Amino acid sequence: MQHVTVIGGGLAGSEAAWQIAQRGIPVRLYEMRPVRPTEAHHTDRLAELVCSNSFRSSSLDTAVGLLKEEMRRLGSLIMAAADRAQVPAGQALAVDRVIFSQYITAAISSHPLIELRREEVRDLPHGVTVVATGPLTSPSLSERLRILFGSDYLYFYDAISPIVTAESINTEVAFRASRYGHGSDYLNCPLTREEYYRFVDAILAAEKVPTKAFEHCMYFEGCLPIEEMARRGKDTLAFGPMKPVGLLDPRTGARPYAVVQLRQDDQAGTLWSMVGFQTKMTYPEQRRIFRTIPGLERAEFVRLGSLHRNTFIDSPRLLQPTLQFRGRHDLFFAGQLIGVEGYVESAAAGLLAGLNAARLVRGEPLVIAPPTTALGSLLAYITHSERRNFQPMNANYGLFPPLPHRLVGREKKTACAARALQDLTAWQTAQRVTAITAPSPALLSPS
Ligand SMILES: Cc1cc2nc3c(=O)[nH]c(=O)nc-3n(C[C@H](O)[C@H](O)[C@H](O)COP(=O)(O)OP(=O)(O)OC[C@H]3O[C@@H](n4cnc5c(N)ncnc54)[C@H](O)[C@@H]3O)c2cc1C
Repeated sequence: MQHVTVIGGGLAGSEAAWQIAQRGIPVRLYEMRPVRPTEAHHTDRLAELVCSNSFRSSSLDTAVGLLKEEMRRLGSLIMAAADRAQVPAGQALAVDRVIFSQYITAAISSHPLIELRREEVRDLPHGVTVVATGPLTSPSLSERLRILFGSDYLYFYDAISPIVTAESINTEVAFRASRYGHGSDYLNCPLTREEYYRFVDAILAAEKVPTKAFEHCMYFEGCLPIEEMARRGKDTLAFGPMKPVGLLDPRTGARPYAVVQLRQDDQAGTLWSMVGFQTKMTYPEQRRIFRTIPGLERAEFVRLGSLHRNTFIDSPRLLQPTLQFRGRHDLFFAGQLIGVEGYVESAAAGLLAGLNAARLVRGEPLVIAPPTTALGSLLAYITHSERRNFQPMNANYGLFPPLPHRLVGREKKTACAARALQDLTAWQTAQRVTAITAPSPALLSPS
């Protein structure tokens, strides 16, 4: 039978290879470590966790908790291993990273239909292929992808601005306007002189995430973190992303000293991103400092700002919702490379790509997860063809379609989770997406 090539034995590639092989299709899985190391991995194990050992919250009050439950129901290898390697971490699912990746390595290496090759792939093979080479994709393969897509569609760093939910913005303070009266597309949070300088001082004093050695020298002038702009001069931000020119606050009729602009981030208008606010401040500091901005006192952040090395593709332009490349239908992409953020999200994308690669080989119709699920809503965001200025995204309830009845807070999340699991079951039945049993404990015993 025709085999499928999977490139990259990280979280996404291991999950994809497992899903394909469990459906009776031979897999050739390429992992370049240890022959060629990356800047962040330390071992030769598959699905190595490069940093934190946390898979984040287990609660269905969070979209990532729901995503994990959906993956269990879809027979995920990554979730089977994570559940078995669990360590106490309160509401979060954290794992013993060694046991976790040993499990995955043992499951993949002993699978009769998976051939594991320790080689760097430098070119795209013919035949059904899943590319899951992650944020640190090797330079030769990145170059090959650049030739395939063109340089406008392949990025090498994240410059992520925070995103807040619309319902948490105080629109009595934040006013709608575009600069110089060119429409009313933006929400503007106005700051007085005193508020602005207090804000700049807080940014300068805030705790920052240390820069890794391999991330040095990657700042581009058009994309500086706000703390770097603040460091260059106390008024730099007021002449940069916070410039108030062409804006009048309708409450005072005057121009504010500075503004924080928010731009609509999804079609439904439920998410708004802070324009030009990429930052390396720690997450708690961002929440504390950004909530001092007038209008954002009660902001609910679905994503916080960051800036780090990350190879990812312009998925809205390049991928179909099935995770097939629009220009070659037997070429799938998965994992962090498609612009999902985080271990769980990467593995989930690997699961869907693997499922669809197997279905393509078997001549079955390809599937898209329901948009009301955590998996479906995330991939709908990632592959929404009209999205511009694409930046990576993690699972969050802000991406879900509205409920038939207006609910807020915890009630809303509970109702979204219940709808998601119901729709997932119905979809699995209708599309015959069976969860092939997770590996047996014996298979998973670490060697
Ligand atoms: C420094 C750093 C810290 C991070 N910290 C966190 C964190 O704390 N929590 C979190 O959720 N996420 C974190 N991430 C994001 C994290 O990388 C992803 O969540 C997750 O690892 C992505 O899974 P993946 O399968 O897409 O990529 P990876 O897990 O990186 O797997 C890709 C694999 O492909 C291999 N590969 C690359 N190029 C080739 C090639 N040409 N041929 C063959 N094999 C190749 C690599 O060796 C690697 O094993 C971090 C990322 C970085 C870079």
